[in-house]
Amino acid sequence: MLLHIPTPLIESRALSLRTGCDVWLKMDALQPSGSFKLRGVGLACQTHAQRGARRFVSSSGGNAGIAVAYAGRQLGLPVVVVVPQTTSARARELIQQQGAELTVHGASWQEANELAQSMLGPTDAFIHPFDDPLLWQGHSTLVDEVAQAAVTTGWVPDMVVLSVGGGGLLCGVLQGLQRNGWGHVPVLAAETEGADSLSQALAAGERITLPAITSVATSLGARQVCQQAFDLARQQPVCPVVVTDAAALTACRTFLDDHRVLVEPACGAALAALDVLPSAFADAELPPRVLVVVCGGVAVTAANLLSVTA
Ligand SMILES: *Cc1c(COP(=O)(O)O)cnc(C)c1O
Repeated sequence: MLLHIPTPLIESRALSLRTGCDVWLKMDALQPSGSFKLRGVGLACQTHAQRGARRFVSSSGGNAGIAVAYAGRQLGLPVVVVVPQTTSARARELIQQQGAELTVHGASWQEANELAQSMLGPTDAFIHPFDDPLLWQGHSTLVDEVAQAAVTTGWVPDMVVLSVGGGGLLCGVLQGLQRNGWGHVPVLAAETEGADSLSQALAAGERITLPAITSVATSLGARQVCQQAFDLARQQPVCPVVVTDAAALTACRTFLDDHRVLVEPACGAALAALDVLPSAFADAELPPRVLVVVCGGVAVTAANLLSVTA
């Protein structure tokens, strides 16, 4: 049994016309937990349950915590989620709706994570939000689904666009691309200003730590990317793109109108990064085929998105 679902892969006529590319969307906003996180978290929780874990502990800015809470409920195991103060009221409510115990601690994920670590007992499994090979393996199924669809549709990506926080999604997607013979396909790695830990690390040639997270895209708020993301991004073609919070928010608003699906600014970063596409492919003869990972996210309400983008 898998805890995540295979998600739709749909053409975006609106984004294709706007970018001059052939844009397709992997709709992971439709996962039962509201984001792609369930792919990796589901696999990690199942694996730990099989190994005898009796409780799951998570530290998460939101979507990973909700995914762990969902997985625990499905597996019949209790869950504790420690979130930083930046986590929205909406996300806190959703974690509790899944029946998990919620603790709020610290100004950023780093502090929440330290408390979560200190709570671990011998039969607890800690579920990391991004730095765990089980998580990357689970996330990589997203690419397998695109490859399976390609058998019948013939549609293969010339480029992948996704958002980067701690880099777990990036690791999974790069691993999936490699496994499906697409290791040469470039990946546009989107971050917002103030959460751009991958972009700054690649520029510096070392895994820098941001002094603070200053972006509204709290789900991208890891002050340092994981080692594996940094290493893979230097082995496979990864191109960092940094967008403003305003651009990410506007992209969420436009996406809501175009596709009638509400996503977080963390996901809006990838949608906003599509604006650099025309220049990236300026000399292509055929419209390049672009796969956008619509990673989703639940820490936003329609009212709140509409009020900040009005
Ligand atoms: C977690 C998350 C990200 C970033 O994923 P990482 O694996 O931390 O890089 C992006 N978007 C959403 C909606 C998320 O929940």
